[in-house]
Amino acid sequence: MGSRKVTSSEPLDWQGRHVTVAGLGVSGVPAAKVLHARGANVTVVNDGDDARAREQAAELEALGITVRLGDGATLPEGTELVVTAPGWKPDKPLFAAAREAGLEIWGDVELAWRLRGPDAAPWLAITGTNGKTTTTQMLASILKAAGLRTAAVGNIGVSLLDAVLGDEQYDVLAVELSSYQLHWAPSLRAHSAAVLNLAPDHLDWHGSMEAYAKDKGRIYEGNRVACVYNVADKATEDLVREADVEEGCRAVGFTLGTPGPSQLGVVEGILVDRAFVEDRHKNAQELAEISDVNPPAPHNIANALAAAALARAFGVPARAVRDGLRDFTPDAHRIAHVADVDDVAYVDDSKATNTHAAEASLAAYESIVWIAGGLAKGATFDELVAKSAKRLRGVVLIGQDRALIREALARHAPEVPVVDLDRTDTGAMLAAVQEASRLAVAGDTVLLAPACASMDMFANYNKRGDAFAEAVRELGS
Ligand code: ADP
Repeated sequence: MGSRKVTSSEPLDWQGRHVTVAGLGVSGVPAAKVLHARGANVTVVNDGDDARAREQAAELEALGITVRLGDGATLPEGTELVVTAPGWKPDKPLFAAAREAGLEIWGDVELAWRLRGPDAAPWLAITGTNGKTTTTQMLASILKAAGLRTAAVGNIGVSLLDAVLGDEQYDVLAVELSSYQLHWAPSLRAHSAAVLNLAPDHLDWHGSMEAYAKDKGRIYEGNRVACVYNVADKATEDLVREADVEEGCRAVGFTLGTPGPSQLGVVEGILVDRAFVEDRHKNAQELAEISDVNPPAPHNIANALAAAALARAFGVPARAVRDGLRDFTPDAHRIAHVADVDDVAYVDDSKATNTHAAEASLAAYESIVWIAGGLAKGATFDELVAKSAKRLRGVVLIGQDRALIREALARHAPEVPVVDLDRTDTGAMLAAVQEASRLAVAGDTVLLAPACASMDMFANYNKRGDAFAEAVRELGS
């Protein structure tokens, strides 16, 4: 059989098709198995050749799948389609060779999209620099409260492939998508989608802010009912304008202010809908109270509004929005209130791993002792510090790149006391919490919102947050 390309418009008959799966791991192994089971001739290529890779390779080879370890750069002869792990950078030579040969390159999301059955549940999709997981879970909670069979899937918990191929029947899926996944998902068409916000992140992967925004914007392509954007973040609205959508699909904004027509917003402590109501120029529908949102921090109210907009686009009644928000509890380390000690609140937002997240977190409190630092990943801190300076009682710095934050503080908040711990060992968190407790006065919040990644000191942000909580408990005992 001669080599035939797999194209997006073609009905999928996998029998004998030569598919190269790029990358073992959480998406590559299941992708290889699924395609092999459908009769494709699968070769997996992987850069690494370590013990874990060998173990996975052995498992796949036992099924009759070819695995090439230690060479993820060259495209196997006869490849008709490349299915890649979403994290593989687009500038890899393997992709250049695939493009040269005119082949399609699909990520894990595209594969799930293409393999879903004819009666598959529609997708309500969410992306953004920050708030994706929270908003997706809120949305799933709202859809459940409306009695719909649903799950939060994608970049969280259940993989999309499992969701579309598993035995569980769904009415609708709440789908979190990363910019990497969107990059590799050319034919995805969501029922409705939201971009929560856009701030520089992962630019080394995408190559530029423009490329990053463009990949995020793919989520709106082909939307049928609503493109949900953030009124306070013009870049998200621009992406809606640039998108090619189905006839009749609407642009719906969310705002923390009073909503205009075709927007959801907040009026006197009430979340209201002026988009999915009859005569939106005159009417508004009450959805929930701010106190129904957990935690009721401004950025999280924005997340709730975005989730509500997608749910309303799907026809969910107002009551279910309220019930779903009330039922929702955020994942750990996202503005988690750990304890009050001597009238000071200790809050763990270890998940604030970039400056945009930390800025939202700091905006949620009036008077803060801020614990920050870690791996900056190329970020600068001037804007964050300048915007947050007036809220800072004091700052405690830890981690490898803390000097960058210290210098920004010297420039924009010279009067704020700073304790520079000059430590990157795990025990530094206890010292940081102790220093913070000395700086805090009654009514303050000690906030761990590092604005940095954790890997210089901890295995991950969970471990960093756990260390903070433990230190707070020690303080209180
Ligand atoms: P993601 O899945 O996009 O990483 P999460 O819901 O896990 O988002 O939240 C990550 C962190 O981002 C939170 O700990 C919080 O500090 C911050 N955050 C959450 N929602 C927003 C938002 N709408 N805008 C800015 N920052 C946010």
